Amino acid sequence: MGKMNKPGQKSIFIIAEHNENKVKPVLFELASCAYKIKKYCPAEIKVILLGNETEKLSSEITHVTGLDVVATEINELALFNPEIYKKVIEDLAAEFLPSFIIAGHTPRGLDVASGLAVRMKAACITGIESLGETEGKICFRRQIFYGKIDAHVTADSEPLIITVQPGAFEPFKPENAATGKVETRRVNYVPFFTHEKGIRRSIFQDSSISEAKVIVSAGNGIGEKENLDLVNRFAAVFPGSAVGGSRIIVDRGWLEYRQQIGLTGAQVAPELYIACGISGASQHLAGMRGSGFVVAINKDPKAAIFNESDVCVVEDINKFIPAFLEEYKKKEI
Ligand SMILES: Cc1cc2nc3c(=O)[nH]c(=O)nc-3n(C[C@H](O)[C@H](O)[C@H](O)COP(=O)(O)OP(=O)(O)OC[C@H]3O[C@@H](n4cnc5c(N)ncnc54)[C@H](O)[C@@H]3O)c2cc1C
Repeated sequence: MGKMNKPGQKSIFIIAEHNENKVKPVLFELASCAYKIKKYCPAEIKVILLGNETEKLSSEITHVTGLDVVATEINELALFNPEIYKKVIEDLAAEFLPSFIIAGHTPRGLDVASGLAVRMKAACITGIESLGETEGKICFRRQIFYGKIDAHVTADSEPLIITVQPGAFEPFKPENAATGKVETRRVNYVPFFTHEKGIRRSIFQDSSISEAKVIVSAGNGIGEKENLDLVNRFAAVFPGSAVGGSRIIVDRGWLEYRQQIGLTGAQVAPELYIACGISGASQHLAGMRGSGFVVAINKDPKAAIFNESDVCVVEDINKFIPAFLEEYKKKEI
């Protein structure tokens, strides 16, 4: 199939994620990122939507964003299948020749983006948080070394594939967006290697983390499992609070998965978030960036979490929390 853009017209692909017939909100952040890219590289933005019942999703996307949607109906896609995604997006890219392919820095987005980069021999910049222009080229900022250093990265690649850190861009919601065009195709593709078996729900239905007004989160800096007791007592001071944690703590089995905050855990937006001994890796920040007021306690004054905090306490948590509880006890009526 030939090139489908108008002559000289470039395009930008945004890969839509959805689950149980609902669009994942990260899509609207990808749209903001695409519009920023468009400022430097005029191009037509197209939302690429793959699924087996895309009508409702296409209509929601185009109504909210005003963007054009290329929807591909694939019977075999009742559940997400990375093999089908990569094959179909590669075929669409051969048709539309996008300059950029943008996916979320999410488990699905990473799987698709890295696989596409290999198939298409394209560069892939992952976890970008902002972008600008350097010497006539678009330059992307991403964090490295657990957020202690910002890397500014450019690439000579067409297409250039990027994954966008959730929470880094404001969701794109223009007022009175004109509805875009929806183009729906149907293809058949039976995957060779990857077969989805179904989705099994977690047995936990606890919503305390997502509903808590205050979250006190424990990180690797707590040192010993026994110190969780200190974090629990600290949290108990705040009405409507819940205890969360970083992935390291959850991987060790000190907290349950439902308490993990971050990219691969819960995305929370409490009024107050208190990070205890958490470095501020981008994957953790992705889960708590929506918090109202952030207090971080960390003994390293250069910890990345301080860049996201309203109050920065440079102290050993094993000293700070007992001292705080002592003072609180004195003030309790
Ligand atoms: C694909 C992917 C997905 C991920 N998803 C998530 C996710 O959902 N959530 C998540 O949290 N992580 C996630 N991670 C892991 C993430 O990259 C980090 O490894 C993790 O967040 C680090 O946890 P931490 O901050 O508790 O530990 P560390 O990075 O080890 O930081 C510990 C901090 O505690 C401080 N400290 C040490 N002792 C003390 C003390 N006594 N008092 C005060 N401060 C102290 C240190 O200065 C340091 O800053 C993911 C990683 C990948 C690759």
